[in-house]
Amino acid sequence: MPKQENGQKGDSVIQNDLSESFEEEVRAFLSDEEKLHLFDDLTKVNPVTTTTVLRCLQARYRVNLFYTNAGCSLVALNPFQPFSCLYSPELMREYHVALRPQDLKPHIFAVAEQTYRNVQNQMDPVNQSIIVSGESGAGKTWTSRCLMKFYASVAASVISPKGNETVERIERRVLDSNPVMEAFGNACTLRNNNSSRFGKYIQLQLDRFHHLSSASIQTFLLEKTRVAYQAPNERNFHIFYQITKGATAEERLEWNLPEGAEYRWLPNPERNLDEDSFEVTRAAMCHLGIERCTQSNVFKVLSGLLHLGNIQFSNPVDESQPCDLEDKTKGFVKTTGDLLKIPVEELLESLRIRTITAGKQQQVFKKPCSRAECETRRDCLAKVIYARLFEWLVLVINESIYADPSVWTSFIGLLDVYGFEAFPENNLEQLCINYANEKLQQHFVAHYLKAQQEEYAAEGLQWSFINYQDNQNCLDLLEGNPLSIFSLLNEECRLNRPSNPALFQARIEKALSSNQCLSGDRFSKKPNFIISHYAGKVCYQLAAMVEKNKDAVPPELVHVLQNSKDSLLQKLFPVTENNQNNIKTQNRAPVVTVVSKFKSSLEHLMQILNRTTPHYIRCIKPNADCKARTFKREEVLSQLQACGIVEAITISAAGFPVRIPFQRFTERYEILRKSCGPSKRRVCDKSNSHTAEEKGETPVMDEDKASRSAVLEILQNVVMGQTTA
Ligand code: ATP
Ligand code: MG
Repeated sequence: MPKQENGQKGDSVIQNDLSESFEEEVRAFLSDEEKLHLFDDLTKVNPVTTTTVLRCLQARYRVNLFYTNAGCSLVALNPFQPFSCLYSPELMREYHVALRPQDLKPHIFAVAEQTYRNVQNQMDPVNQSIIVSGESGAGKTWTSRCLMKFYASVAASVISPKGNETVERIERRVLDSNPVMEAFGNACTLRNNNSSRFGKYIQLQLDRFHHLSSASIQTFLLEKTRVAYQAPNERNFHIFYQITKGATAEERLEWNLPEGAEYRWLPNPERNLDEDSFEVTRAAMCHLGIERCTQSNVFKVLSGLLHLGNIQFSNPVDESQPCDLEDKTKGFVKTTGDLLKIPVEELLESLRIRTITAGKQQQVFKKPCSRAECETRRDCLAKVIYARLFEWLVLVINESIYADPSVWTSFIGLLDVYGFEAFPENNLEQLCINYANEKLQQHFVAHYLKAQQEEYAAEGLQWSFINYQDNQNCLDLLEGNPLSIFSLLNEECRLNRPSNPALFQARIEKALSSNQCLSGDRFSKKPNFIISHYAGKVCYQLAAMVEKNKDAVPPELVHVLQNSKDSLLQKLFPVTENNQNNIKTQNRAPVVTVVSKFKSSLEHLMQILNRTTPHYIRCIKPNADCKARTFKREEVLSQLQACGIVEAITISAAGFPVRIPFQRFTERYEILRKSCGPSKRRVCDKSNSHTAEEKGETPVMDEDKASRSAVLEILQNVVMGQTTA
C-alpha cells in the first residue's frame, strides 16, 4: 500500500506508522478513540462503514477539525462558531504557495487551490466547477463566499478598471454581489437565520494570465411566495427589515415608512440579525454601480409591497358587487397606489374584478372576485413584482461584472444549491429541489463513481464492483418522455379547467405505476404520491400543485403594472407589441410552467457542468439547533446518506487511495530503474509490449508509453527483488 506524503505536523505521525502494516494499524487506530481524529481522509478508514466514518468525523469535530477528505469530495462540518484563523489571508496564502496543497490539512482552500492549478495546468477539461451541497444551514453559502474571497485574493486582477477611479475593481464587485443577492434572496427560517431562498451558480472568469477578469451569475427558483406568506416564526426577505430599520428620517417620509408601523408581511421584526444591516447592502449596491436614485426607487417599490400586504378585503353585502375593503386598511390602498405610481381606482379594479372573454365574438365580461380570489390576486401582485425585481437585480449585477468572452479564457464555477428536502408536507417546491438534487447526484455518479470503477477496469486491476445506486429510474419518473410526473403536470396545466387532485392522483398512478420509484400513501386522506429518491422517500401532496405549476398571473395585474408611472416598474413590466393593453391576447398566452422553466434552466446548467472538471464539497450540519460543539450522530448520518458520500468513500477506499501519475512516479523512483542495467530494461520493454492498448483496453492515464513502461520496469524490479534500494 503506497504511503501518503503529508506536510502536516500532527498527521505525519499517523502517516509514518501506517506504512508498516496498514490494515493492522488502521484497526488499532480505529479502536483507539484518541487517534481517530488523525484520519484526515475517510478513504483510509477500514472498513468503511457509516459507523466508522461517523466516529472519525465526530472525533475530528471534537478537536476542531472541520474538514475531512473523502476521495474526490471534501466533507465540511459547520462549526457554528467563528474561527477567523480558519479563513485568514495568511492561511489562503499558505495553501496558495504550497508545493502540494492537497498534502496540507483538508480545507476548502486546498480544493480551491487545486481547482485553480487545474486551470493553470490546462487540465482537460480546463474549466472547473465546485459543487457545494448540503441541507439548509449546512454552510453552503458561507463556503461559497469563502471560495470567492480566496479567488478574489489569489487571482486578483492587476489592471484597474479602465483607468476609471470611480469604478470598483472587479474582485470588489464580485464580492459585493453577495450581500446584495443575500439581502434580496435570503431570509430567516426555522432552520437557518440566513437561508438562501434561491439557487445560485456563479462563474468566475479568468483571463489568459489566470487573473479574475469578470463573472456571471445564474439563479434558480426564487421562493417568491415568501414575500406574501411567511411560515410561523419565519421572516420575509432580509431587505424588508433592512429598509424598515435602516431608512433615514427623510427616506421614511419619502417611502412612507413611519417608525414603529406594523406590516402583516413583516413578521418578527424585533429579532435583530447581522443580516439586517441596510448600510452594507447600500454600500455594495453603490460599488456595483447602482445609483442612489435607482436604489431609492427599488426601496420605494418594496415599501409599496409592505403597504399592499396590509390591504384586507371583506365580503360585500350585495354579492353582485366587488368585495369591500376592511375599514382600517383603506389608507393602505392609497399609499400602495402612491408608492407604485398606479391610480388607486385601477389598482382596486385589478384586485377585485376579473375580466372574462367568451363567445365567438370574444366578448369581454367583468365579474367581481370572491374575497379569497381578491386575496390571491393581492399576493400574486406582490410575488410577480418581487420576482421581476430580483431578476432585474441579477441582470444589473451581471452587467456590472460582465466582460466580453474574448477577454476571458477559462472559468471556475461555484454552485450553491439547496440540498435534498423532505418535510411532513411537500409540494412543487420540494419536487423541483429534489429533482435538482437527483440531477446533481447523477452527475456525481457519472463523473466519479462510474469513472473510478471504469478506470480500475481499464487498468486491469482486480476489482469487485459494488452496486451503486443508479438513479436513472427516478429521473425517468420525474422528467422522462413521453410520460412522467412533469409531463403529466404540464398536461394538467394545459387543460383549461380547475384541477382535481384526487383524479390527478389516479392519472399519475395509472400512467406511471410500472416505475418502481413511484408509490403512494394509501392511508392519507390527502391526494399524494411518493417518490423513492436516492436520498430517501418523499411524499408529495397534490393539492394546489397544478396551480403552483401554472404560476398564472391574472392579465389585469400585468396590465395595471404596465400602466404604472414608476420608471422601475416600467422596466420590469415593459409594454410589448403583443400584450399592449390587450387582455384578450394575454388570456390565450401559452402556459410556460414552473416545471418546464426549471427543467430547462437546470439542463442548461448540467450542460455547463458536464463540460467542466468537477470538485465536490459536501457541507454537513452537525445538529439541527445550529449550536456550536454539538454533534448529533443520527442527523449527520442521514446527511451522509443523502449526499451519497458513504458509497463514494467505499469505492475510494476499496480501490487505491493513493495514486501517483506515471511521470511523478518515475521521477521519484528513477533510482530503482537505473540499478537494473540496460539488458533488464529491454526485458521490461518487451514485457511492456503487452500493453493495455494492445489488449484493446484504453489507457487511463495520459502519460506517454515511455513513462508507462518505466513504471512497469520499476515495479517489476521491486517485485523481483533485484534492486539494491
Ligand atoms: P441554506 O440552504 O438555508 O441557504 P446554507 O447551507 O447556505 O443554508 P449557510 O447560510 O452557509 O447555510 O450557513 C448557516 C450558518 O452557519 C451561517 O450563517 C453561519 O452562522 C454558520 N456557518 C456556516 N459555515 C460556517 C463556518 N465555516 N464557520 C463558522 N460558521 C459557519
Ligand atoms: Mg445558503
